Amino acid sequence: MAILVAGGAGYIGSQVARALRRSGYEVVIYDNLSTGFRRLARGFELVEGDISHEVKLRSVLARVDAVMHFAAHAYVGESVENPRKYFRNNVAGSLSLLNSVLDAGIRRFVFSSSCAVYGIPGEIPITEQAVRAPVNPYGASKLFFENALEAYACAYGMRAVSLRYFNAAGADESGEIGELHEPETHLIPLALAACSGSGGELQIHGDDYATGDGTCVRDYVHVEDLADAHVRALRYLEGRSDPRGFNLAVNLGTGRGYSVLDVIRAVEGITGRAVRRMVGARRAGDPAVLVADATEAQRVLGWTAQRGIEEMVASAWSWMRESEGGDWAESA
Ligand code: UDP
Repeated sequence: MAILVAGGAGYIGSQVARALRRSGYEVVIYDNLSTGFRRLARGFELVEGDISHEVKLRSVLARVDAVMHFAAHAYVGESVENPRKYFRNNVAGSLSLLNSVLDAGIRRFVFSSSCAVYGIPGEIPITEQAVRAPVNPYGASKLFFENALEAYACAYGMRAVSLRYFNAAGADESGEIGELHEPETHLIPLALAACSGSGGELQIHGDDYATGDGTCVRDYVHVEDLADAHVRALRYLEGRSDPRGFNLAVNLGTGRGYSVLDVIRAVEGITGRAVRRMVGARRAGDPAVLVADATEAQRVLGWTAQRGIEEMVASAWSWMRESEGGDWAESA
């Protein structure tokens, strides 16, 4: 069985591509390398193209049985400043991809969604039934596509799983792939950089939230656990004999929350170094607490996160040290 991994040269997509291959699937990576890295796709067939390029997609889709979609812009702050970019790619581009998939006769689809669809949650932990009311254009773009999948499931028999990630973190055990964003805005890599000497001081985005220590609380989930969930989602799609369409939405988190200060302590514990930091203003679009109720993933996919915050930080740290001085910066 062959899988098209759209956005497979990015941080999460490239981990999933490897997990799929380890599980015996054939993988074709499709990526326009706008934010992805050629190096992350090394060893795979890489087709360079945009998700809205119908002609290019047609020939690739003719060779695959299912599609996984990671090709999205994913900075909350940037989405607030430049919504046009987010709606163009994450909404218009994604819809174009979905139509190409449909026209190719493919009915199995795994979507990389986000807890950002929930906005500011009424209750913690967040279940899949919680109201979806995004508070930033990034979350709105993910919700739009979930709704499109829902409609295509009813109307055209699309069979989809939307995986709502909480905070992806960590690097793979082989040391081959780690978190690589340009520019980097995520907490764990920035906290590591702030104690490695290669980065600046970490800015804590607000310490006046209504949380235990005043900093935001998030549910960090190891990228290898996320990758495993995608393989399970695909098996779930293969295993359903019912020919009707559906869009199953599942949270992927650990069910445990860590504040920014908790993460800093974990980083200091693993590295044995101090994280240079200062407290800054709140970042636009950041809810105070996001923690998953992860029981649905266990019930439906048999998935629970296996790795904790220490493993996320430790793997990210060893990956960062290994890649320092390497040629990662040259990217695409
Ligand atoms: N954060 C922070 N300083 C940074 C980057 C992030 O204090 O330099 C906080 C951010 O406000 C959020 C948490 O760390 O509460 C996780 O942010 P990240 O950008 O890693 O992921 P997001 O929650 O935006 O997906």
